[in-house]
Amino acid sequence: MKYMQNATILIVDDTVENIDLLKAVLESHDFHVKTASSGLKALAAIQESIPDLVVLDVMMPGMSGYEVCQVIRQDPKTRLLPVLMLSALDPAVEKTKGLEAGADDFLGKPLNQAELFAKIESLLRIANIHKESVKNLSLLETLTKYDPLTKSFSRTEILHQLCIEIDRSQRNKRSLALMAADIDYFKNINDQHGHQVGDEVLTSLVRKIQKTLRSTDSIGRIGGDEFLILLPDTELESAIDIAERIRNDIAIATYETSSSIPIQVTISIGIAILNPKEHLDNPQNILLNDLVNQADMSMYTAKQNGRNQIAT
Ligand code: GH3
Ligand code: MG
Repeated sequence: MKYMQNATILIVDDTVENIDLLKAVLESHDFHVKTASSGLKALAAIQESIPDLVVLDVMMPGMSGYEVCQVIRQDPKTRLLPVLMLSALDPAVEKTKGLEAGADDFLGKPLNQAELFAKIESLLRIANIHKESVKNLSLLETLTKYDPLTKSFSRTEILHQLCIEIDRSQRNKRSLALMAADIDYFKNINDQHGHQVGDEVLTSLVRKIQKTLRSTDSIGRIGGDEFLILLPDTELESAIDIAERIRNDIAIATYETSSSIPIQVTISIGIAILNPKEHLDNPQNILLNDLVNQADMSMYTAKQNGRNQIAT
């Protein structure tokens, strides 16, 4: 089975003969085997490189198998590491104690080989499903959080961050600036040079804006060629300065793309400010809508006034 191939198993036992026997059995089934003769050595080995499964003896001097298992479960990196516990003591009692300590399964000694392999296989299969779902979840998070083209934040994420910043602004009584930026006559770029070149311009333009921003600021793409830029802790005067700087940086830049002709674009920026002293009683969703609408309306004013400019 695919998930069994190359799986690394860590055997933890204080008795050398037990380790040697189990190692030989597991190696004969093509597992990579590592060994540790005490609980502390096992934890050190796991820190160094996390195995695919741990076969853990309960009765060991110093740190018992239960204690080792508890430490494994407390560390977020090994929270899901499969642990198969072994004990020669009363299986009924030991099994409950082992499972309570966080073991995934339990086997009594002397070991029955068929049962050992069946359990190892089942634990590795479940661990594999866990790994796949963690991977899928993080992929899903990336897809919802970032705009795939420009790698700026997605619409959902920038609005989520705006919510958080509105909340913070009200608590700290600090102004929050929101900018809506839209590329001027962007359709012409696509029409003249093709959609691919348009995409390259969008991506480079975001990089350029990101370089101007502080680490606490953020930019998200909310539509085709429209972006929201969030500047926490920023008063109107500074927001105007920053917007003017961004506008100018974009206007003087030349974009090298797959088109043979270097491309220039301009943007129009609308600014809205949340002054927490003026909006004490408004619910957060109203503030968010108002702020986005104000930034958008200012941006349209900048467009109407001739583009390549900012408006408040
Ligand atoms: P305005 O100055 O009024 O903003 O003019 P505009 O041409 O930029 O008009 P508008 O903002 O309404 O249109 C945006 C255009 O952006 C429409 C579409 O051709 C282009 N666009 C939208 N999304 C993408 C994209 O992902 N890639 C590319 N290459 N173009 C896009
Ligand atoms: Mg546009």
